[in-house]
Amino acid sequence: MRDTTRFYIDGKWVEPVSPKTADVINPATEQVSGAISLGSADDVNKAVAAARRAFESWSRTSVKERLDLLRAIQAEYTARLQDLGEAVTEEMGAPLSLGCGFQAGLGAGHLQTAIEVLEQFKFEEQRGQTLILREPIGVCGLITPWNWPLNQVTVKVFPALATGCTSVLKPPQLAPYSAQILAEIMHKAGTPAGVFNMIQGQGSVIGSALSKHPDVDMISFTGSEPVGIQISKDAADTVKRVGLELGGKSAWIILDDADLAVNVAAATSGMMVNSGQTCSAGSRLLVPNSRMEEAVAAAKAAADAVTVGDPLSDVAMGPVVSKSQWNIIQDYIQKGLDEGATLISGGLGRPTGLDRGYFVKPTVFGCTNDAVIAREEIFGPVLVMIGYDDLDHAVAIANDSDFGLGGYVSGRDKDVAISLARQMRTGAIWINGGFDFHAPFGGYKHSGNGREWGEYGFHEYLEVKSIMVGG
Ligand code: NAD
Repeated sequence: MRDTTRFYIDGKWVEPVSPKTADVINPATEQVSGAISLGSADDVNKAVAAARRAFESWSRTSVKERLDLLRAIQAEYTARLQDLGEAVTEEMGAPLSLGCGFQAGLGAGHLQTAIEVLEQFKFEEQRGQTLILREPIGVCGLITPWNWPLNQVTVKVFPALATGCTSVLKPPQLAPYSAQILAEIMHKAGTPAGVFNMIQGQGSVIGSALSKHPDVDMISFTGSEPVGIQISKDAADTVKRVGLELGGKSAWIILDDADLAVNVAAATSGMMVNSGQTCSAGSRLLVPNSRMEEAVAAAKAAADAVTVGDPLSDVAMGPVVSKSQWNIIQDYIQKGLDEGATLISGGLGRPTGLDRGYFVKPTVFGCTNDAVIAREEIFGPVLVMIGYDDLDHAVAIANDSDFGLGGYVSGRDKDVAISLARQMRTGAIWINGGFDFHAPFGGYKHSGNGREWGEYGFHEYLEVKSIMVGG
């Protein structure tokens, strides 16, 4: 049993102001795995006050001091990589190979990237007669979701710290363990009191108190669209900067010249990674109508081959995060059936042989882009396949979405792929794979307004000052 009932405030592990706890459920077993404290607005006030005090000195530290701390954190993070991965598996059900691999590894990557960016970042620049300064915005409230829990925490905490900001982190209630370990890492590495604080609990209480708090200068939020809208409203009265990283319904276009079977299989199994709980997942697979039959066969074979089960065993897919998430996904599968979409693989209920745990069948539908399952973010292992007639049609379908977070193009002719990417109204596009920690990540349209990762992630936390010097 894990105990995460204390908060990290002002460099110390402290009891909540008003004791109240909630169980944490292991999604693979449906058993209680531990408890967290549910914080209150009083805890938020304490943490914000500590962060405000610490900002006075932390905002004036040198780049070298901040680099030294980031490197000390890196040493601790590396030493606890396995712990972090195991915590992710226990809290949100990712297979252990994914938890200890990409899940924990993304955090290590963002940490290394923050160090590389800080080593060369220009906090000052002379343009003509104007001296331009980039200064830390102040106290930041960082609110994160459960799906890639370390990725989302580290992509905020380290740029905030590197730019001289102080922060109060509110991790997801469903996945509190990895953030708790990160706080232990920050403490052991010698983070000065108040520079980083962490409070667990409910979004509607802690997140809302942070968003409305007059002494918080900025909120960086990753999560769902409705909560992002609520945070923006809550933050409006205090004129805070609000960075939003929201949901997606990203298109994966397979070009006619691509090796269709290989690429459809890659897109299908890619959709099932992390049980489909990835904001930038390619959840709409666009294939040429002329080759639909071949594509359907390849998608079915790939989905049927995805192994599902105990995340501590050698499987490709664990459960989804919670009972309520399981129910939402089942409702969407039912909607797909009701709408007359063609079920290619998977469907309702748990996979055969799994009668406990929030397991979902890897599911593929064929449908048109106006189906509800093609328009709304399902956030589960459900892929929709849509046919296109020509490249203009493919782009039109890709762009016919309220969201604009990710996009994928697979094909041999890179010029054609890049030309399509240019026309797609979306924040990040991967052509034939590829991955870069320095590439800015964020959304168009309802997918948000922020840009995280690499140097762009630093700008989120900086104010810009012009000093104009006359003769
Ligand atoms: P969520 O919006 O329910 O919760 C996210 C966080 O917000 C949690 O910590 C939650 O406690 C908190 N919260 C809830 N209500 C709040 C309120 N009123 N005020 C302040 N905070 C509040 O999202 P989720 O279910 O945890 O995550 C899934 C969503 O996150 C999906 O839509 C997914 O696409 C999105 N997401 C986006 C990105 C991205 O980078 N764009 C990355 C990962 C996940």
